[in-house]
Amino acid sequence: MLVLFEPTYTTRLWTIFEIAGFLKSHGDRAGLSSCLIILPTFLGPTAVAIFLSATMINMSVVFDYGGRMQTILAVTCVVFCVCANGIHWLRGYFRWIDECCSQLQNFSMEKAHSHCCKSNHVNEEGSQIMCDRKIISECICLWFGSEEAFESCVRSDVATVLIEGLRRHTFTFRWLVAVSMPTSWVCGDLLVARLRVGEFYFSAVAAIVALAWWFGLIPLCALLCLMVSSNPRQRKNQCMDHMVTVLGASLVVVLVLPLYLIRIVLVNLMGDDLIATCLWGLLVSLATLLAWRVWAKWHLSHLSIR
Ligand SMILES: [Zn+2]
Repeated sequence: MLVLFEPTYTTRLWTIFEIAGFLKSHGDRAGLSSCLIILPTFLGPTAVAIFLSATMINMSVVFDYGGRMQTILAVTCVVFCVCANGIHWLRGYFRWIDECCSQLQNFSMEKAHSHCCKSNHVNEEGSQIMCDRKIISECICLWFGSEEAFESCVRSDVATVLIEGLRRHTFTFRWLVAVSMPTSWVCGDLLVARLRVGEFYFSAVAAIVALAWWFGLIPLCALLCLMVSSNPRQRKNQCMDHMVTVLGASLVVVLVLPLYLIRIVLVNLMGDDLIATCLWGLLVSLATLLAWRVWAKWHLSHLSIR
């Protein structure tokens, strides 16, 4: 079963009954991960945003702005703007997940919405329609024994499964690498240009740089934005709220920029582009791996029923 989780999911009686019924018919919780996939609809626009951001960051790296310092400034500005927008967006997402948690933990049949009752049981043509709530209520009493037992199941089992599912299927490393695809196109273009003129040594350097950006720096930027955003508490003062976003984006830039610059330092120190780039690639991989481990732990504790 594929659940496309959107803002009204936890407020509607039909959707909650559907997933509670699914859980009831699959008593074995161990096998659920393979047959229940929960994806927030938020992932669609986020994938497009990361795709476009990765394109912008790569373009800022590739173009020469009239000197090394100007290029570094251009990369810094683009990364900061992309991260600030991303953090603002992600904080909204995590606030919404918190609201969903709270709605599920306080679920009651009475508060849950149903379209038929909202429209006073009259369809668009003006004819009377049956009340879904009555039918669902009868099914609930047959399946769960009573409405109270159903409500209790929603507050515990359904809430746990939905939040665990969101944790498992949202923002995976594979997804981050897939949506950062423009990195491979931009770096691939540079690689092919060098291969065509027979510069095999610098082709190897370009290939390592491409891999480090695609599997390292871009996912690392996204992971740091996720970590900074995962404390979504809204500040009462809107200025303070924007300040939190700006500080978060600045922190990401301060952490990522030295990793980008360290390659230039290593090349100057070692005098060999290939060895310096290999060492840099290793550093980027280790930093990304560390960030991923921290994020996985953080994500687990943030998206849990409290
Ligand atoms: Zn009704």
